[in-house]
Amino acid sequence: MSQLFPNYLRDEIDLVDGLGSYVYDQNGQSYLDFMSGIAVSNLGHNHPKVIQALSEQAEKIWHSSNLYSNSLQEKVAQKLTMGKDYLAFFCNSGTEANEAAIKLARKATGRKKILSFKQSFHGRTYGALSATGQPELQAGFFPIVEGFEYLPYNQLPPLQQQLDETVAAVMLEVIQGEGGIIPAEKEWLQAVAKLCKANNTLLIVDEIQTGMGRTGTFFAFEAYQIEPDIITLAKALANGIPVGAMLGKSGLAEAFGPGSHGTTFGGNNLAMNVANTVVTEINQPAFLAKVADKGNYLLNELTKLTTESVKVKAVRGKGLMIGIELDSPETLQQVIQGLKEEQLLAIKAGKNVLRLLPPLTISQEELAKGANIIKKVIMETN
Ligand SMILES: *Cc1c(COP(=O)(O)O)cnc(C)c1O
Repeated sequence: MSQLFPNYLRDEIDLVDGLGSYVYDQNGQSYLDFMSGIAVSNLGHNHPKVIQALSEQAEKIWHSSNLYSNSLQEKVAQKLTMGKDYLAFFCNSGTEANEAAIKLARKATGRKKILSFKQSFHGRTYGALSATGQPELQAGFFPIVEGFEYLPYNQLPPLQQQLDETVAAVMLEVIQGEGGIIPAEKEWLQAVAKLCKANNTLLIVDEIQTGMGRTGTFFAFEAYQIEPDIITLAKALANGIPVGAMLGKSGLAEAFGPGSHGTTFGGNNLAMNVANTVVTEINQPAFLAKVADKGNYLLNELTKLTTESVKVKAVRGKGLMIGIELDSPETLQQVIQGLKEEQLLAIKAGKNVLRLLPPLTISQEELAKGANIIKKVIMETN
């Protein structure tokens, strides 16, 4: 019997090893990894440079404390902000990055209200949970943090109605991940950014799932020509070593003065040395172009299913973040099980969307193999 809280619905396989795009369970069975630990292992498993970064730092100092200067944090911050006018704060997870964003937005603006979107996901701690537009996830945990309102995603009129000079921030994902792989429409997101500017409202873009090259650009928002005031990152930032980051415009610095916010572990040396390597590997034009190409290939292959199978309602996404909307939650369960039997791991998003998040380093051959398995399993599901 498990000694663990039953808060996760766990599959019985226990992944004990990994190499590249493959993972191995307790019985030595291999699986093609099309979920990357939920968009975490973007450089795949056992990446030699990531191992080197971890082991080099493991023999120096793991943790120093944010009471001291930290050149590794400075280095990662420099790489993440890419010469733009942002400052960085490091923490340990996605939800903490969003907590920092929410606190910073309220303190910097002196305003209380934050607008976020239906079926969004921002994390499980109280602030991030309160920003999350999914009543099922909040059920039983009231009172949540006040001041949040949830608007329909990709719709402008409700936002135009709600957004005024009392709103501290608008918080959104560029592609809603947990909510069902729902990309923001370009005109909408650009209009949101404009409205925010007009009201001196901060735009918080949660790139925790979409960032780190996942969609073929380093940040997903880059494809929309917008400039967020605050950006949050976590998941793939250190390829599996827990770390999160919040980037904010340097004009917000005063609101996060000494003693205003902090964390013991945040940005520790071990996590930072790995993050430095991961960011360096991913943030290269040639690497990102390949992710975009692989994503286009996968999307094209899978889009054929919309005409070939009545079970497939839509195929959408960007780069290597792709969702296949199926006709029901039951079909989705059958497909996930069928894929596992064919030795491919994928997960769900929303109620009936199959979510594909292979490592960004996946080879064309592995990608084609995965696409064929997915097509076969979906075609054989009845
Ligand atoms: C996973 C995720 C989070 C929460 O990150 P944790 O590290 O699990 O706290 C927040 N926002 C988005 C978009 C996510 O995908």
